[in-house]
Amino acid sequence: MRGTIGVHTAHCCKWHGCKYGDPDCPVYNGEVEQLYLCEDCYWELEDEEYCRERLIRIEEIKIFKDLNVILMDRNQKEKQL
Ligand SMILES: [Zn+2]
Ligand SMILES: [Zn+2]
Repeated sequence: MRGTIGVHTAHCCKWHGCKYGDPDCPVYNGEVEQLYLCEDCYWELEDEEYCRERLIRIEEIKIFKDLNVILMDRNQKEKQL
């Protein structure tokens, strides 16, 4: 199923799971890095209260991508919609 990996890297999240409910999702299983943060990740980043409760995850996200890059990605995503 190698041809489908790109679909997963673009849409799935290692923290929030596979967008398609695939138990063999390569992103969720840590075989490949996701390209973007998922919608749930963006919601969490915008919710300060939630961020404070889950500092570990936010630190993970900061490692995954610098915060400025995340915001740039989001702007680009909104333009595509
Ligand atoms: Zn997936
Ligand atoms: Zn996520």
